[in-house]
Amino acid sequence: MRHLPLFADLRDRACLVVGGGDMARRRVALLLAAEARVTVIAPELDAELQRHAEAEEIQFRQEAFDTQALDHYWLVVAATNDRGLNARVAAAAELAGKFCNVVDDPEHCSFIMPAIVDREPVMIAISTGGHSPVLARWVKGLIETMLPARLGRLGELAGRWRERVKAALPDSDRRRQFWQSVVKGQAAELSFAGRDADAETALKQALVGWREDPSSPAERGEAYLVGAGPGAADLITVRGRQLLAEADVVLYDRLANPKLLEYARRDAELVCVAKTPGKPSITQVQLNRLLVRLVASGKRVCRLKGGDPMVFGRAGEEMQALTEAGLRFQIVPGVSAVEGCAAYAGIPLTLRGVSKAVLIATGHTKDADLSHLDAARADQTLALYMSIGQLETISEALIGNGHAPETPAVIVENGTTDKQRVILTTLAGLADVKHEWQIVSPALLLVGETARYAERYSWFNPEGLKVVRKSASLARAG
Ligand code: SAH
Repeated sequence: MRHLPLFADLRDRACLVVGGGDMARRRVALLLAAEARVTVIAPELDAELQRHAEAEEIQFRQEAFDTQALDHYWLVVAATNDRGLNARVAAAAELAGKFCNVVDDPEHCSFIMPAIVDREPVMIAISTGGHSPVLARWVKGLIETMLPARLGRLGELAGRWRERVKAALPDSDRRRQFWQSVVKGQAAELSFAGRDADAETALKQALVGWREDPSSPAERGEAYLVGAGPGAADLITVRGRQLLAEADVVLYDRLANPKLLEYARRDAELVCVAKTPGKPSITQVQLNRLLVRLVASGKRVCRLKGGDPMVFGRAGEEMQALTEAGLRFQIVPGVSAVEGCAAYAGIPLTLRGVSKAVLIATGHTKDADLSHLDAARADQTLALYMSIGQLETISEALIGNGHAPETPAVIVENGTTDKQRVILTTLAGLADVKHEWQIVSPALLLVGETARYAERYSWFNPEGLKVVRKSASLARAG
């Protein structure tokens, strides 16, 4: 190991930065974040450092670097743009027995500054031994997305309870097991969700459970209603992925991308609760019962739904069932089909002077009643979910409503996935499209002047774009 990672407590300790430019400024910012007492030696300072000096946050010595000056510093940073001078600073630091970092010159460094993932008090330092800062930043990016944004809250909670847990569980093995269960358990989840008081209560209850009954920690189940996004696996949210990775059981839809199941725990139970149109499958009532039974038995259940749980996702029924059973749940939004399809088909849903509103509606009603579309207007984009079964009826209803027959209409099939097809036609042309193009589920219908932009801004899978009837109005895009 060339570099041993250390975490230095620099609060109120004197540190020296030689140099007053861009590089120096970044190092000074880090040292100030660690509450060090910073002295900067340089002929002049850049504007930001000047402000720090004027606010007396740093001490500025406008002088040439003097090797004698190192005695009372804990560490030294050489950050001038003169490599020779930097090397002299490093040599002087070496002689004086001080740690020295030389910007952009790993060979002269006795310590290097890592890339940092900051979840105070949890800190992750990443180093490539000075070989590749870009690689270090890439790893940092990866870790940033893996860790809950509020990881630090759990660290603080653990810190507050450390002594009390020690007193309650004197045996160190049991204590370790307890903390392991906390990190994977409900208190952690509540911390990550920002519910600090509930997290505190959960931890307290868990501790009582552990003290009284060594075998079963008092955990309660919880449901996570997670939006899987519109199709492409990488359109799930960071939070959604984290909860998916926590769950004991995953109940997943036909619409949720199966690749996402790779994020589930290896030992998690994966249950497909697909509702394929036309096939016998689990009803919503049965699904609610299953969800309630699992959560009540203490399981953490991830209900992974296509798109957003709150948009035609039956979250209403599931929240009701869980609430009536007195069970906890969390909801993680997802990118809904309308957002995913619009983005991946290049259709702005709102556009100045063209579309003032987006109307999200279902195109599927039991009795073919489309009266909820009466509100649709020409200066809107109409997004119709579950509409492929009755394109003809929808077309007639909207034209009957006063929409021009040549209003652009677009069908996005398998939006955001490799199989995406975008079929651009007109309201009048919709009826023919379904058979001609063998449209399959899932597909979304977008109607309105904005739909014509599918042709102009087709950035994703342009081969999947079909312009069915290039009437005069479609040709005038823009
Ligand atoms: N909760 C989901 C919607 C579920 S209803 C969401 O927020 O997106 C199912 C309907 O969503 C389908 O009939 C279809 O109209 C639409 N849909 C879902 N995924 C889609 C996709 N990848 N491409 C096109 N439409 C999609």
